[in-house]
Amino acid sequence: MPINISPIAGLDDSVNDIRLRTAAFVNAEILPNEARLWASTSGLDFPEEEREHERRQIIELRESIKAKVNEAGLWAPHLPKEYGGMGLDFLSLAYMYEILAYATGAAKLFGIAAPNSGNATILVKYGTEEQKEKWLLPLIDGTLESGFSMTEPDNAGSDPRSIKTEAVRDGDDWVINGHKWFTSNGIDANFFIVMCRANDPTGELGKPGQMSQIIVPTDTAGVKIVRGIGIFGHATSDHCEVLYENVRVPIANTLGLVGQGHQAAQDRLGAGRVYHCMNSIGQMWRAFDLMVERSLVREVHGGLLKDKEFIQGFIADSYMDIQSARLLTIHAAEKVAQGDPGARTAISSIKVFVPAAFHRVVDRAIQVWGGAGVSNDLPLSVMYLAARVLRLADGPDEVHRILIAKNVIHQYESGVSMDFGN
Ligand SMILES: Cc1cc2nc3c(=O)[nH]c(=O)nc-3n(C[C@H](O)[C@H](O)[C@H](O)COP(=O)(O)OP(=O)(O)OC[C@H]3O[C@@H](n4cnc5c(N)ncnc54)[C@H](O)[C@@H]3O)c2cc1C
Repeated sequence: MPINISPIAGLDDSVNDIRLRTAAFVNAEILPNEARLWASTSGLDFPEEEREHERRQIIELRESIKAKVNEAGLWAPHLPKEYGGMGLDFLSLAYMYEILAYATGAAKLFGIAAPNSGNATILVKYGTEEQKEKWLLPLIDGTLESGFSMTEPDNAGSDPRSIKTEAVRDGDDWVINGHKWFTSNGIDANFFIVMCRANDPTGELGKPGQMSQIIVPTDTAGVKIVRGIGIFGHATSDHCEVLYENVRVPIANTLGLVGQGHQAAQDRLGAGRVYHCMNSIGQMWRAFDLMVERSLVREVHGGLLKDKEFIQGFIADSYMDIQSARLLTIHAAEKVAQGDPGARTAISSIKVFVPAAFHRVVDRAIQVWGGAGVSNDLPLSVMYLAARVLRLADGPDEVHRILIAKNVIHQYESGVSMDFGN
């Protein structure tokens, strides 16, 4: 079923135009090819050369769609025009992500693939000209891959102040030691952006222990990919455990200033949380369409699913979940776009509410589809796992709940009650 998009009253014409053009593209080029685009060839009972042929055909199909995305002027919406992107502002991008998320893998075909896209955005903002030349441009044209290496097995990822990985200055180099895990895309990455504490014994680069981000090529001596961590019952994944043992990189690889690491991570995560939520909403929208569509045709126990009250309850609850998640997210996105200081509370609210709503909606859609719901024939099982991860990645629910409550209590203590109209 195609995504049903019409202009939103009151929204800027240019944003409506991007929504409509993106939806038209997704409906015409991606949804009809979705199963083929991401099909696994490993289980095919064909001779190896036929499988190889099939693999090549799939890659050609992806490349031909990417070329059409480019022709349609929809490539890399998150990047400035000078780097070959659309140069969209924050709100336009959020609205576009919602639609891209409707189709499995569509974002990748539009040049947006985590963690590369987040790293590219940070390189645009904090990178020197030399760093942009060396790391950003190849990242954009797809000749390099990257990862973001922040979380550590021995310290709480939900409290970034606990990071222990250390970079000690030695002449014109940093020497990095530390232990990370869940560095996504770690198998393919050519470089990592490593979050660590910088110590310069000369004092020239500021006081010791300041949080910094350093670009580390993965082929540097001392970078050891210990394993791809198996998750959700799979033997391995591209979320890697990484050891940094006396890893020597030039001081010139510091991204931004020493001490700007935390701010750069916040820049990435703050906007990223709104984007993740719009992504979740696009996926919920798809799950909802699949659920209702199935209920119209599936006969059980002498009647269609749509006529069973349990299923009607699923549909009604999912409608409410999507509407509330969407309105809450747009509210937060508008606060971010306006530079409203209340945006932090709004972002934490969506970070808690939306993944949970996403989880509930997909769970109901799976239930309606029965066994097919957990099969790879539908995108629902992948969505289900993604929703579960979102409840702990980018700050687990509890941390954001605490933040919401702190901000609200602080406001009341200073004599100002909530104004829910704004
Ligand atoms: C699939 C996947 C991909 C990831 N990709 C990356 C990546 O590319 N780069 C990267 O650096 N990291 C990545 N991560 C790591 C992720 O960001 C962390 O798992 C997350 O920040 C939580 O940190 P932690 O695992 O250390 O949990 P902890 O910090 O140990 O927290 C565990 C639990 O404690 C509870 N908790 C925490 N604080 C409080 C509190 N104040 N009060 C009450 N309860 C609390 C929460 O329930 C939380 O889930 C990824 C994780 C997953 C699962």
